[in-house]
Amino acid sequence: MQVYFLGTGTSQGIPVIGSNHPVCKSDDLKDKRLRVSVWVTFNDISIVIDCGPDFRQQMLTSGCEKLDALLFTHEHADHTAGLDDIRPFFFRQKKDIPIYAHQRVLDNFKMRFDYIFETENKYPGAPGVETFEVKKNVAFKIGSSQVIPINVNHGNLQVFGYRIQDFVYLTDVKTIDTAEIEKLKGAKVLVVNALREEPHHSHFNLQEALDFIHLVKPEKAYLTHISHLLGFHEEVQKKLPPNVFLAYDNLKITI
Ligand SMILES: [Zn+2]
Repeated sequence: MQVYFLGTGTSQGIPVIGSNHPVCKSDDLKDKRLRVSVWVTFNDISIVIDCGPDFRQQMLTSGCEKLDALLFTHEHADHTAGLDDIRPFFFRQKKDIPIYAHQRVLDNFKMRFDYIFETENKYPGAPGVETFEVKKNVAFKIGSSQVIPINVNHGNLQVFGYRIQDFVYLTDVKTIDTAEIEKLKGAKVLVVNALREEPHHSHFNLQEALDFIHLVKPEKAYLTHISHLLGFHEEVQKKLPPNVFLAYDNLKITI
């Protein structure tokens, strides 16, 4: 399995528009972070998790040419605003693109992207999607692989993370129940959000993310959904335990 980090930044991306913060002014490419998303491939299957406002650029940079499924964690704009840009995949693959999300998120899409769901006189240039409801405690299959939804809380909002074989992707987590943590046991690679050092009402800060990694004990962990306030990539990486890495845009790992 290959995992490609398409974006590793928090909701505004880094650099933040108009910011003079030193991290936003950094020349290090690892300090430039698009909105969070990952591209997972195994056998002949190509899955993208979340589809934020940088989706088009991410697809061009990564060279992703096929989309078998789009999985969503939740409805916030930094995870969903690029949905219209699945159009090239829809046109080339000549079929509706399967999207997987909580029913609440699918309902939200029907409101925000109503033209995609139009059943009468649909505009021919609009993309088509086939919706699949993701439910807590109900695993599903994509290709030959099982996908296990992981229920987490982003402040008061329910969010899904996903386990695909030995890979776990969790973002926008603030709290998670013990029963859900059980589903992560034995995974080789855990990706989890770490916003900054200061606490935040709906995201793990760095210490909370490290404590969580210590609890789950994956072989390796990668931090994502990073704010410029966390600091320079190079300096933060030096402070992390040996099996914990700051993810960065265009990082590719093999599991
Ligand atoms: Zn987010």
